Amino acid sequence: MRIANLSGRLTLVLGERAVDVHDASDHRFPADPQAIYEQWEEFKAWASEADLKDAGRPYDAADLGAPAPAPRQLLAIGLNYREHVDEAGFTQPEDMPPVFTKFCSSITGPLSDVVLPEGGHTDWEVELVTVIGKAARRVREADAWDHVAGLTVGQDLSERVLQMSGPAPQFGLAKSYPGFSPMGPFLVTPDDFVDPDALELTCSVNGAEVQRGSTRQLIFSVPQLIAKLSEVLTLLPGDVIYTGTPAGVGFGRTPPRWLRPGDELISAIQGIGELRQRFVAA
Ligand code: ZN
Repeated sequence: MRIANLSGRLTLVLGERAVDVHDASDHRFPADPQAIYEQWEEFKAWASEADLKDAGRPYDAADLGAPAPAPRQLLAIGLNYREHVDEAGFTQPEDMPPVFTKFCSSITGPLSDVVLPEGGHTDWEVELVTVIGKAARRVREADAWDHVAGLTVGQDLSERVLQMSGPAPQFGLAKSYPGFSPMGPFLVTPDDFVDPDALELTCSVNGAEVQRGSTRQLIFSVPQLIAKLSEVLTLLPGDVIYTGTPAGVGFGRTPPRWLRPGDELISAIQGIGELRQRFVAA
């Protein structure tokens, strides 16, 4: 199953057709895409049984928003692919990867213009994003996928000057400028994939590929992350986890390559779709 946020309304996507869930369910389910994660199991059961053969209409991709536009928690994982750990010059995490937050005001949909912070060095990080569908506290790895509503594509845009300034890294702020957390275009349920633990992800700048990886290479897989994170905190329905980026970011290049006004960034994951960001001067 794939769902979307279409003009701010929860939508089931059936091929080329978009079905408004609030209307199609006779108002049983909310129109607010963020609210559905509180009723995820019930919604999934309804969607699998509802007769929607003739429902829906074509839609415009320009109207897509983030499938989880206002999570209570937006967590992000650092150093979760070996080659990226190497290019970043760190040692590999053993028990727990670095975990930080991106502030929710930075969330946008899949197609957007992003203002480059003045005097900054803005960089790309394509990432698989997990959205939680059932509260998770001390969840075992074997049960972790049951707590996932679905997967989407994310870009963890990062301004490296602020990130590296001061006595300790400023991950949270440097990755939270307006528009720095695009997500979409759809949320795809884990059962939709042949193997949800092996998804190819790519990123290109102006048509030239800069990142290519597979989530098979994650140091901490999605189930391991949910197990590790839920040992410490409670993951809530609708929470978003950016799972880390493969090698090929701008700061790992010689010389470094930062995003410039006019650049177009495309971030894609097999079986989900792509994000498209264009960068503009401040
Ligand atoms: Zn990242």
